Amino acid sequence: MKNKPFVPQLVYIEPRALEYPLGVILKKKFEDMGLEIRETTSHNQVRNIPGDTDFQKYRNAKSTLVVGVRKTLKFDSSKPSAEYAIPFATGCMGHCHYCYLQTTMGSKPYIRTYVNVEEILDQAQQYMEERAPQITRFEASCTSDIVGIDHLTHTLKHAIEYFGQSELGRLRFVTKFHHVDHLLDAKHNGRTRFRFSVNADYVIKYFEPGTSPLDLRIEAARKVAEAGYPLGFIVAPIYIHEGWQEGYRELFEKLDAALPQSARDDITFELIQHRFTKPAKRVIEKNYPKTKLEMNEEERRYKWGRYGIGKYIYSKEEEHALRESLETDIDTYFPNAKIEYFT
Ligand code: SF4
Repeated sequence: MKNKPFVPQLVYIEPRALEYPLGVILKKKFEDMGLEIRETTSHNQVRNIPGDTDFQKYRNAKSTLVVGVRKTLKFDSSKPSAEYAIPFATGCMGHCHYCYLQTTMGSKPYIRTYVNVEEILDQAQQYMEERAPQITRFEASCTSDIVGIDHLTHTLKHAIEYFGQSELGRLRFVTKFHHVDHLLDAKHNGRTRFRFSVNADYVIKYFEPGTSPLDLRIEAARKVAEAGYPLGFIVAPIYIHEGWQEGYRELFEKLDAALPQSARDDITFELIQHRFTKPAKRVIEKNYPKTKLEMNEEERRYKWGRYGIGKYIYSKEEEHALRESLETDIDTYFPNAKIEYFT
């Protein structure tokens, strides 16, 4: 578990990033912090991350921050939580064993932050105009845990205030980190949904090293609710383990005890059962060889997926039991909350 905000061990900066004000600010900040700073021609090809083995390199990469310019300004779609993924950062310092970034980021597990924030926001504006008069939702945490690095960059804070001014745009993101204090006074205008990823103690204890402890996440959620943000929780991955029903019930009890009344009429829950693909299983076993994460294909149901890569989810009966149990808990403790989906 991690209580202190992330500080990179090593920083790479693209020369082009210094053409943007944020690039210059970050370089100065990291120099003042006494961090080692290297140059990289491209954030897509960072070479010489220290480490003798792949295992060491992977760990060092997850403590390395690359300051770059986002060139691809075509946003991916982000169903079911939003229309688009807005790309402010890629990668994460957390070590959640099940994290899908291990497969999607492949050989580039280092953390990238993009300094051309205005260009990214201009692109968001274009998407909003194309869809007008419909509301367009942007998800800022598809490829990173953006809150986990925002105490360094304040990119997210800037985006929250940008969407605070926008009629047709909404911002949303999810985090497992509690370092939210600098976001509490952002002028969000109720247009950003601030979500926390939460889970039963067992899952957090065994599978989420390098992230904030649950109690600190809940405390941060309370502060965020008191700052007037619409609040949400993602319970993911919902994972069957001994005593899972009690484990999840205790989670909702803790949330119930901590959250102010004012937040409860506009809380969302997103429920995602544990799943894995065959390629993901191989990568997880390589990166976290001692993991207790159960990934036994025979015990799961196969669901066909895009690009021919199917995923293994729980059996129909297990899925039903999980869904019923969690939805009942939510109904008990948060009767006015909206369950956005169970998948
Ligand atoms: S905090 Fe989120 S993005 Fe980071 S390792 Fe864990 S699951 Fe992945």
